[in-house]
Amino acid sequence: MSQHDIFDSLARNAFDFLERGIGEFDKTPKYSVIHFCAAVEMLLKARLMKEHWSLIVSKPEQANLAKFMAGDFASVTMEEARTRIRDIAGEEIADDAFNSFRTLANHRNKMIHFFHADVDSDGQAKAQIVAEHCRSWFHLHRLLNRWDAYFHDFGAEISRADRAMKAHRKYLSAKFMALKPELDASRKDGDKPKACSACGFKAAVPDALDDQIATLRCLVCDHTETQVEIDCPHCNQAVVIASEGYAKCVHCGGSIEPEHLVDALTKDVVGTKDYFETGLPANCGSCDGYHTVVSRGDVYFCANCFDMSDNVEQCDWCNELNTGDMEHSYSTGCSQCEGKVGWEKDD
Ligand SMILES: [Zn+2]
Ligand SMILES: [Zn+2]
Ligand SMILES: [Zn+2]
Ligand SMILES: [Zn+2]
Repeated sequence: MSQHDIFDSLARNAFDFLERGIGEFDKTPKYSVIHFCAAVEMLLKARLMKEHWSLIVSKPEQANLAKFMAGDFASVTMEEARTRIRDIAGEEIADDAFNSFRTLANHRNKMIHFFHADVDSDGQAKAQIVAEHCRSWFHLHRLLNRWDAYFHDFGAEISRADRAMKAHRKYLSAKFMALKPELDASRKDGDKPKACSACGFKAAVPDALDDQIATLRCLVCDHTETQVEIDCPHCNQAVVIASEGYAKCVHCGGSIEPEHLVDALTKDVVGTKDYFETGLPANCGSCDGYHTVVSRGDVYFCANCFDMSDNVEQCDWCNELNTGDMEHSYSTGCSQCEGKVGWEKDD
């Protein structure tokens, strides 16, 4: 079996687990939690596999192909997979995405270790499971889109899972109905609930920063996200980008990247007094984004990771503006430089 075949079989298996995880929810919610979570883990491993098969072995330095093919190996944990994807593939899985996967994994562990006799008849427990699935699928689906170069053979599986997840949401409608008074109250206060990107219900209550950026929290599934509304750089129609600056335009399918958001969010200030003399856009201390941080009123907003900060500071070594702590930047540098220590090392 070639490296490609192993990837293929792992990914195929992951989508099979995912389909079961969604499909068996009604009859056996417990197994649905276990299978859904296994699918998430397998897809993260499949992404690692695209770098090298030994990376899904917990100790790659001891990896042995014959043993690997025989299934005789300890595999990476979800945390290790995330770290390796970041350190080796150079791709960050954002905190909100990873937290949704971790919640799923904790729930799975609980299901495996403690017998929960009445989960089948416990409406609240079932709603919680579906909410977790919705949040995780939202993030997983985005990752798969971002990793399109690796998962393009699985377009049909991904769309099928997306359709199944949309049907899966019906199990949350009782919760949505119960929240109606609360949602009506928020509408009266001027915070009109918007459609949640994870569960689809109009239950995401906005907390607007300005006319383009808002943070929303869904009362049905607890999904939180920051949304930015811009005109698509390709087709000019209004689009909403939810969490992290990678998305496809719903109108024209064009890809929208952090740079487009930076452009759109600074469009009105370009040319006005000294915007670029102030050193903006700044660099992001959270995601290491280069010139991704723009100023919005009192807040600095990163168009890559959607992090918000109260201030930016100059790096004492390279003079670039950054969010995050710059106290020791003269010696250790910032996200874009290695400071005096790095400079002396090069010498
Ligand atoms: Zn929701
Ligand atoms: Zn477009
Ligand atoms: Zn950032
Ligand atoms: Zn610096």
